[in-house]
Order: sequence, then C-alpha cells, then structure tokens
Amino acid sequence: MPEYIDAKNLREVRKELMTCTYCGFCKSVCPAFEGVGWDRSVARGRMVLSYGLLQKDIPADDSVVEALYQCTTCKDCERRCPSKVKVVDVVERARKDLVSAGKILPRHKGVVDNVLSSGNPYGEKRNVRDALGQNDRKAEIGYFAGCTAAYRNPKIAKATISILDKLGVDFAVVDEMCCGSVLQRIGWNEEDVTKIMQTNIDAMKERGVKEVLFSCAGCYRMFKEEYPRHVDVPFKVRHISEFLAERDLPLKEGKGVITYHDPCHLGRHSHVYEAPRKVISKVPGATFKEMPRSGETSRCCGGGGGVRSAYPELSSNIAAKRVDEAAFADTLVTACPFCVNNLNMGKEGSSSKVRIVDLVELIDELL
Ligand code: SF4
Ligand code: SF4
Repeated sequence: MPEYIDAKNLREVRKELMTCTYCGFCKSVCPAFEGVGWDRSVARGRMVLSYGLLQKDIPADDSVVEALYQCTTCKDCERRCPSKVKVVDVVERARKDLVSAGKILPRHKGVVDNVLSSGNPYGEKRNVRDALGQNDRKAEIGYFAGCTAAYRNPKIAKATISILDKLGVDFAVVDEMCCGSVLQRIGWNEEDVTKIMQTNIDAMKERGVKEVLFSCAGCYRMFKEEYPRHVDVPFKVRHISEFLAERDLPLKEGKGVITYHDPCHLGRHSHVYEAPRKVISKVPGATFKEMPRSGETSRCCGGGGGVRSAYPELSSNIAAKRVDEAAFADTLVTACPFCVNNLNMGKEGSSSKVRIVDLVELIDELL
C-alpha cells in the first residue's frame, strides 16, 4: 500500500514550492546531483517530490526519503536559483514531515538516540570538558568546542585552547551538550531541539560568559542564526576566525601555497567569508591562492545535512572532488572540524597530496 503522509510543515511553504519554475539551473551546482545523477537528487527534483508529498500525490516511499536525505543542505542551489527558492528550508520541512510519519533513517535514529541519551551524536559517555582536560573556571569569554572537535578531532579543540592561552585570553570551556544542529538538519522535533538550546544557554550563563567563541562552523551557525529564533541568546556569538582577525598575531614563517575551503555553514549560511582569509593573510612567507570555486560559489565538502552518517560513500565522493580542486596547493585550510574530517575522508579517493588542516591548527603551529 502506498503511504501518503500528513505534510503539515510543508503546508507552511506551499507558496515557496510553487515558486520553483523547474528551470533546472540548480543542476549545475548541486554536489549531490553530481554524485547521484538522478533528477530527484537535485533541488528541482526535491521540490517536485515535496510538492507531491504535500498534495498526497506522491507516497513517502524509500526513493523519496533517499532523495530528500541526500541533500547536504549546502545552499549552493539557492545562490544559483533565479526564483530565489528557499530550497534548504523546504527540504528540512519535508524531513520534519517524514520523521513525524516515522520515516527516519536508521543511522539518523541512532544519532538522535545518542544526542538525547549522551548529549553528543557519537554516544561518548564523557562530557566535553573532561574530554579536553578543562576545569570549572568562570570567565567572560566562553569556548564552545562542539562534539566533533571534542570527540572526533580533539586536535582542533586543543589548538583553539592553546591559541587562547598563548594570547593570554581569560576564557572558560563551557559545560556544553550537542548544539542541536544534527537534530535540526535531519528533521527531529522542535521541542527537543529547543530544550537542548535552553540547556546550552543556561550552561553558559552559569559560567558568566558575555561572549562565546566557536571553532565549529555548524555550531556557530546554530547559535548565530537558529538559536535566536527559539531562545534568548544573552551573549555575543563569534567564530574563532572573527576573533583572531582582529588580533595582532606574532606568527612564525609559513611556507608554500595555502588555499581555503569555505564551510557551507560559515559561508553561505552565516556570510563569514573575509575573517578566515584575513587570519591566513597574517601568515608571513606563505602564498595564498583561492580555489576556482570559493567564497559564495564554494563547493560543499559533502559532509553536511546528515549525508555523512546516512550516505558515507556519496559524502566521500563529493569530498574527493573538492580535495582534487585544491591539488595545486600545499595546504588546504578550512574552519570547521566536520569539513576537516570529511575532506580527509575524501582525500583517500583523491590523487591530491594536499595537507588538510583547520585554521586553528595552522595558527597554533605558527604562534
Ligand atoms: S534553480 Fe530554482 S527555480 Fe530553477 S529548478 Fe532549481 S529550485 Fe527550481
Ligand atoms: S542544498 Fe546543496 S545538496 Fe541540497 S539541493 Fe541545494 S545544491 Fe543540492
């Protein structure tokens, strides 16, 4: 029996869905479409499927679920779209309707269960401060490490802490739980996401922070763009690149050619393009060169939107293409632990020898 769902979240964007003219301009940029090859896996196809779900013309079968979850939510299609369709909003609403109807992918259910039971998507039993060896101090500046830097790439969290120490900044590592990004991206319910947001806000208030720094682009976007829609955010929110761009950094000589990958959450979603480049420009002795697709036109690493956990092969293939684009450089710098990890996965399928590091790793080495 075909299964039609009650698409109550999609009902709120009916007009948005009808704005898509099916012109297909989005096909030229969609990283998922390039990897999958089917029209259902490009923004245009996802708009058709979402409208079909809304009208109960299309059942929520496995192929529809797959098409809607193979979107990395990179937002490149929105930049390209002449009708300015808010594709990511539509996709995430469709996902909410699918999840409400019980159509959650098993890998995503595991991630949600981990966040709700352990406070992080990896099911780690420690808390972030224990993982990073931090104490209980209070300070006006807080550092929110994020789950990927705390549990899967601690070099990045430790480099951030080391930079703040070297610069003599009085800061506290907050008692954080997952920022909620992963739940939000895969369409989990707003009630749980809002509770998580409030828990994090309360933990920061407890530390007395007036400004919070982020080394993860996904966590930063959550606090900058999404938290204020649900909870009061009573402190300044800055990505570490914005903080470092304003500082004098007495750096040692760098070397070779450096290029920069804009994380989608930091760039197209949060409009932070200049700060990381300004920080890299402080490295003496190195040559900075942009990739052909950079800034607003940057290509996605393939890791976002729940694609890494549900479709790892697609995610790695997208990442390999991005790493290939940086083959001319000695060092590929980005500003998100999730991008670092995913690009390194992609490097295994690329002939490029480029070294991939986070901005904070590069700066900590030279400071
Ligand atoms: S570019 Fe925009 S209007 Fe054209 S098919 Fe894609 S989403 Fe629809
Ligand atoms: S957000 Fe990115 S992956 Fe999703 S449809 Fe648009 S271009 Fe494709």
